[in-house]
Amino acid sequence: MARYKYTDTESGQGQFLSVNLKDQLLPGSFEHMLNELIGGKIDICSFDTNYKNDKTGATAIPPATLMKLIIFGYSKGKMSSRGLWDLGRNNIIAKALTQDMEPHWTTISDFISSNSEKFKEVFIKVLAYCNELGMVGGQTFATDGLRLPSNASSDLTGTFENLEKRLKLYRRMAEKHIEKHKRKDAAGQVDEETERHYHEQQKKLNSKVEKISNFLETMEKKKGKRGTETTSNITDNESALIHTSSGYVQGYIGLAVSDQKEQIIVSAEAVGSANESEHFPHILDMTLDNMKEVDIKTPEGAKPVMLADNNYFGEENLKACHERGLEPIIPDSNYKNRLGRSEKKRYEASDFKYHEEEDCYECPVGKKLVKKGSSIVPGGRTGMVYRASVTDCRLCPCNEKCMGYKKKPSKRPRGRTLFISESNELGSFCQSMREKLNEQECQDQYAYRIQIIEPVFANIACSKGLDRFTLRGAMKVNGQWLLYCIVHNLGKCLKGYIKEQGYK
Ligand code: SF4
Repeated sequence: MARYKYTDTESGQGQFLSVNLKDQLLPGSFEHMLNELIGGKIDICSFDTNYKNDKTGATAIPPATLMKLIIFGYSKGKMSSRGLWDLGRNNIIAKALTQDMEPHWTTISDFISSNSEKFKEVFIKVLAYCNELGMVGGQTFATDGLRLPSNASSDLTGTFENLEKRLKLYRRMAEKHIEKHKRKDAAGQVDEETERHYHEQQKKLNSKVEKISNFLETMEKKKGKRGTETTSNITDNESALIHTSSGYVQGYIGLAVSDQKEQIIVSAEAVGSANESEHFPHILDMTLDNMKEVDIKTPEGAKPVMLADNNYFGEENLKACHERGLEPIIPDSNYKNRLGRSEKKRYEASDFKYHEEEDCYECPVGKKLVKKGSSIVPGGRTGMVYRASVTDCRLCPCNEKCMGYKKKPSKRPRGRTLFISESNELGSFCQSMREKLNEQECQDQYAYRIQIIEPVFANIACSKGLDRFTLRGAMKVNGQWLLYCIVHNLGKCLKGYIKEQGYK
């Protein structure tokens, strides 16, 4: 029978090995590129201003070392400071990147949470490197938001009224807890273990009561865009209750604009808001500023195109694009129906003809819709109401197609009503967008949106496992989002880096 060499590595016994740390970073690997770029081509001298130990105090771990460990850890899905600390102590590649300095988790945590502004500079430098490698096309961009939970307690969230109710509930629970304890004590049923348990429970309840009452006394109600109260959160009031495909989470939306050529993120920001569309003009400004800063050029004679989904459709957002010299392709919510995917397409405003002299609309069968006055719809939009006669509509052969299929036309108390808001007025940006989307060329261009932005989010949240924020507060979370985007962009750079360096 053949005999083979045997080593006992399964028992977990530690071994003394002679290791050259530099040799662990294989040329052409992500970690080798990271080691070469951070502190080299991607200069991070600006972090030096944080350190005031030139004459006295202990020597610090270099920021480049911390950056390398954080980016490497994030690329492996390690988001917590303790996870990164663990990686720095036990992973040979992380040891090579940090030159075996083993930064403590408190140092890592402080570095991540106090350098949001500096991470913006690093993001720009990484983007400049991507551009240098020729990975940014500068012609077509797509934007969207990734909804991620943050380190905010979803228990301690609600309107002020809800929080007051919860405060009363916790107070009652605390009182009952004391009464129960007294009863058991009198009956002689409290031993040392039970006593400790009671005290811990009491401490928890008291701390919750204190937190909620302090919050209600010191903070003001959070107001939404329309002036109505939105939910507040006691642990992180800058986060928002966000709707995701798997329900509501307390967190932030990571906004990103990605370039078509290699899905490089051109601009990014995390916002504590349930509605990402209101940040669209701001993200456009950021994109243009970044393009200018790193000298991303749009091909001669072309206009940069911005693709976004129907959440971003609106007069203000479309206008913002035109004002900044960008060509928007943003469909309205009825776009798919207009493409004929739904058989039961209802007549919409564009199927009605406007007569300026009479200030009325003519329906597809030639009946008149007269002006009834102005109105405000639940979304807060104002506009004019035009209505057809109920008799005309009941007798009309197209009444189902025009009035909808849910209710029988004979049971409807009114004729077809048209609500003409700013967004469906003739000549408005929204109306021109709808008309433009009827063209095949525009529809083909819009089809690229999914290919440009969705793989970016899939890479960050699914491939890398960066599916939550571990911090609290808009500024810190924004810094962490920028780090996630840096990890994505550097990962994309690898191919170009290998080619540039001539590695095989
Ligand atoms: S239902 Fe009324 S508004 Fe609609 S097409 Fe018929 S007559 Fe015109």
